[in-house]
Amino acid sequence: MYETKYHRASTVSDAAAMLKNADDGKLLSGGQTLIPTMKQRLAAPSDLIDLRHIDEIAGIMKQADGSIRIGAATCHADVAANEDVKAALPGLADLACTIGDPHVRHMGTIGGSIANNDPAADYPAALLALGATIETNKREFSAEDFFTGMFETALDEDEIVTAVVFPTASNTAYAKFPNPASRYAWQACL
Ligand SMILES: Cc1cc2nc3c(=O)[nH]c(=O)nc-3n(C[C@H](O)[C@H](O)[C@H](O)COP(=O)(O)OP(=O)(O)OC[C@H]3O[C@@H](n4cnc5c(N)ncnc54)[C@H](O)[C@@H]3O)c2cc1C
Repeated sequence: MYETKYHRASTVSDAAAMLKNADDGKLLSGGQTLIPTMKQRLAAPSDLIDLRHIDEIAGIMKQADGSIRIGAATCHADVAANEDVKAALPGLADLACTIGDPHVRHMGTIGGSIANNDPAADYPAALLALGATIETNKREFSAEDFFTGMFETALDEDEIVTAVVFPTASNTAYAKFPNPASRYAWQACL
């Protein structure tokens, strides 16, 4: 057994301060990767800083230039269902629709997914293909500079992804191989 302290942040600067004050803190978004990792004792953070209740990094906005800004704490189901995303970047909505199952899509977030950068994950390929920009509490990255290797990104230890901005695109489509190993039941959103 080990002790983990839970903190609920209400602003990004709150979260950054909590992370700074922790011995070995970890940011928590949907928990769909981090919690199983903790259960398997592959991670044992001293503190969990929950980002899910920070309004400034949640939600989707179509900007004046037509680009789509998706807050880091936005779950996959919200991306899949968003009318602006479906109209401007239908391939991105389809991608979000194929992630995991309904539970994973309602808990997992775009920020958590790209910070984790699992080579099997869906979003990283889309960010690269669409030339997305990643915003953090410190700076901005192009997708090419952000993803540095398997499970590796250019983020500093204490850096928080706040949003992903997708420029307009003339055509988008997404296809992927179903996971052959797990044989879990799989259902895209209808
Ligand atoms: C059964 C199952 C099926 C899945 N299927 C798919 C799939 O088909 N395709 C796919 O792409 N993914 C899949 N996933 C992964 C899923 O998309 C997760 O949502 C994602 O990997 C992690 O997002 P999260 O919000 O849960 O992050 P968390 O688990 O909370 O965090 C993951 C990591 O990112 C860090 N982090 C979280 N948020 C931030 C932030 N804003 N800034 C900086 N660091 C941050 C955390 O500290 C942690 O290290 C699946 C997961 C499960 C459990």
